[in-house]
This record gives sequence, structure tokens and C-alpha cells, in this order.
Amino acid sequence: MAGRAVRRTRFAPSPTGLLHLGHAYAALVAAREAGPGQFLLRIEDIDRDRCRPEFEAAIHEDLAWLGLDWQRPVMRQTGRMEAYRAALTRLAPLCYPCRCRRGDIRAALSAPQEGALPAGPDGLIYPGTCRGRSMADAGADDVIRLDVARAFDMLQIDRLAFRDEAIMPGHDHNLSRAEFLDGIGDVILARRGMGTSYHLAVVVDDAAQGITVITRGKDLYDSTWIHVLLQKLMKLPTPLYHHHRLIRDEAGRRLAKRDDARAIRQLRAEGASPQDIHRMVGF
Ligand code: GLU
Repeated sequence: MAGRAVRRTRFAPSPTGLLHLGHAYAALVAAREAGPGQFLLRIEDIDRDRCRPEFEAAIHEDLAWLGLDWQRPVMRQTGRMEAYRAALTRLAPLCYPCRCRRGDIRAALSAPQEGALPAGPDGLIYPGTCRGRSMADAGADDVIRLDVARAFDMLQIDRLAFRDEAIMPGHDHNLSRAEFLDGIGDVILARRGMGTSYHLAVVVDDAAQGITVITRGKDLYDSTWIHVLLQKLMKLPTPLYHHHRLIRDEAGRRLAKRDDARAIRQLRAEGASPQDIHRMVGF
């Protein structure tokens, strides 16, 4: 009889600041959900302008202090540019280069309507200005977008689905093609000068690391649809998801990296023990 697949989870922080209580919670959930399986760490450092080596060193130190242990070697996204390039080449027939800046997009979107502009997990819903451009004309200043309608046509599907073991376990989460087009739109697969985007990198890396359960905050739930679409296009398995609650401050706001008062090392400097941190996030 075939054994059950080993569960493999990861914590994937970006070294753009100190880890705070929200990160501690996310890391503890990922480690717990690995169970007797494997817990991995991945450093998401593609945004070279914002990532700093001292924050990366602090991630390792803070997680170890919290009592976590992870598989080595640790994957770092800046070491993975070749894999992202290969993925982008594979998806290129469904992509187009886009030269629109945020101001162009805002202007195109606000022409017919007043008030809030339509936005999704990848920012403003792109109005399609550059959709007719060919990849052969891609310039160094362009971003690369996925033509989502063509992607759905190619796949010959009209909805996406995934399973989440924390939200509605045992039932499919569904999103239709129309909902994707209206609520997310033509997502960016490569940012200007970056060679990839968060969405492309996370999908390529989760597959390369054989992650079977993706634990992440509910704030990324809408982005998961983008990842499921990319998995289908690249014929990668869709893992199980586990979207967890977010740790909030007393005013109910989500914690941000700039909230240094809740940085793990600040709390540690004030005398908190690892057990105190576990307790503070409800473990
Ligand atoms: N790197 C992402 C973050 O810092 C999380 C990774 C993911 O779950 O996709 O929020």
C-alpha cells in the first residue's frame, strides 16, 4: 500500500524588516502544519532595493530563538533567477510587454467612472492598453503581463479550484474566469528590472521545493487564485492551502514590518521568552 505523502510546508519571509508577532505566528503555523514531515525556510529577496542582509540574518536568529528548526539548505530567491527566466519563457506565448505606468493605468481606468478605481490582489485591474503588443517588442523598461483571457482559452477551462484545510475543509474553493478577469485581471509576471514577480517566483519555488501544504495569511487568499492559474499553465500540481488568521494590534490593524514595538527582538530585549511569544500569538 502506498504511504501517505510526507507533508512539507515552508515559511517564506522577505528580509525587508524585522520579524514581528505576525511572522512568528505564520512561522509557527507552518512548522506545526508540517507535523512529522518537513518544514522549510525560503528567503523571498527578489526586491533587491528593499531587502537587506542584516534582516536576513535576523530572520535566522529570531526563528532559532523561537525554537524552530528547518531543513537546509535554505532557498533564496535571488539564487533562482534562471528558473524564473525559464518559467517566463514557457509562458511567453500567453504574455505581452506593458509600458504603462501607474498614472497611465489610473487615467485609463478613471475616464468613464468617478470614485474608487477597481483593484485586486495585483493592484489596479489593468485596462488592457498594451494587450496587442508582441513579446518581440519587449523593452528593458516594460513589465510582462499575462493575458488572462488567452490563458483560460488555452486551458479550455472556465473556473479554477483549490482546497483549503482551514477554510471550508473538504470543499472546493472556486473562481470563475469572469471573476478572475473582473477582479484580478492581467497580472504582472515580471516587474520592471526584476526578471520575475512575487506571483511567478512563489509558484515556481513552491513546486521546486515540493511544498505540499502552503500555509499563509488570509491577506494572500486572493493572490492564491493567481498562483493556481499559473500552476495550471505550467502543469504543476496545485498543493493544499491553509490560509490562517492574521495577528492584529489592539486597534485591530494588521501588523506591519514598521511596527518595531512588536518586533520579536524588541520583545525579547524587553525580557519576553520564546514561550511568551508563543502565548502572545495564541499557541
Ligand atoms: N513572502 C510572502 C510574504 O512575505 C509570503 C509568501 C507566500 O505565502 O506566498 O508575505
